[in-house]
Amino acid sequence: MTDAMTADKQTAFVGVRGTIRCHEPMANHTSWKVGGPARYFFEPCNRQDLSTFLKGLDPTVPVLWLGLGSNLLVRDGGFDGAVIAAHRGLREIRDLGEGRFAVDAGVSCARFSRFAAKHGWSGGEFLAGVPGTMGGALAMNAGAFGSETWTLVEEVELVDRAGSFENRPAGSFAVSYRQVDIPPAHWFTAGVFRLSQGRGDEGANVRSLLEKRSETQPIRQSSAGSVFRNPPNDYAARLIEISGLKGLRIGGAQVSMQHANFIVNDRQACAKDIETLIEKVQTAVADHTGIRLEPEVRFVGEHQ
Ligand SMILES: Cc1cc2nc3c(=O)[nH]c(=O)nc-3n(C[C@H](O)[C@H](O)[C@H](O)COP(=O)(O)OP(=O)(O)OC[C@H]3O[C@@H](n4cnc5c(N)ncnc54)[C@H](O)[C@@H]3O)c2cc1C
Repeated sequence: MTDAMTADKQTAFVGVRGTIRCHEPMANHTSWKVGGPARYFFEPCNRQDLSTFLKGLDPTVPVLWLGLGSNLLVRDGGFDGAVIAAHRGLREIRDLGEGRFAVDAGVSCARFSRFAAKHGWSGGEFLAGVPGTMGGALAMNAGAFGSETWTLVEEVELVDRAGSFENRPAGSFAVSYRQVDIPPAHWFTAGVFRLSQGRGDEGANVRSLLEKRSETQPIRQSSAGSVFRNPPNDYAARLIEISGLKGLRIGGAQVSMQHANFIVNDRQACAKDIETLIEKVQTAVADHTGIRLEPEVRFVGEHQ
């Protein structure tokens, strides 16, 4: 716990062993590299610690679960609540046998994908290029190259606002394209994923999917991947491109020249630049095509 915490706040977090920082700049924790401060930024060291923190947290303080911040626009005014970042504390992969793996929410998608491929299991290759955590992949039903996270899920473990854990089968969730209905104030702490027996070419498949990405996406620039959901039977990138918006810039944010559904922060953008550009693209695409694009990225926090 840091010195910056006031005495009454320390009382509330009695027994917490992980790190709690106050006024932590969220720009350090999002792939867009923007975002104002979080009131508390908590990194639990394990499940018990997470539970202790949640039990001690004032129930009126909002909670934001953070994966690797790769689908998140945190506004410049920051998040007046507690951010929980579990990628250091919940990071185990357990092999349950016969292609079943229990994977903690903080494990990166890339690590799980490579681990599975290395051990000859197939089905997780598409996750190699998703730059988030497995918890984030569960929350977003992350997908790529025709595959989606929830087709692999058997069951999940969740924690609630009171710090209690429970397991639920995959079938108890309504899941669709980049959308999962999670009960309010519940977060994924782990999932059991079932893969299929591989044919020995999983490592090569991972490499080839990563190559495809680097040819088509600006992966070396700060972004949050696809900004908009693809509308039914179409592609957001195509609609943005035919609306003449590639290269459109506001401040330090630009519609990528390489992939029109990406917005890159290439000149020290603030969150306001990115959000304004998102709104501008939405309006221009609607005017040009009649289709209103809906964001895939999540917005949190306060305007400055
Ligand atoms: C270069 C690039 C390429 C990308 N390519 C893809 C792609 O191919 N396919 C794709 O689907 N996405 C892609 N993305 C977007 C992003 O990586 C995914 O949405 C990813 O699943 C987000 O994971 P995260 O851990 O970073 O979540 P975050 O961005 O930290 O969080 C996203 C949302 O999920 C919630 N959340 C996170 N973890 C949990 C949890 N454990 N329990 C409950 N809620 C949680 C957060 O509160 C937030 O609302 C890409 C992003 C980038 C930057």
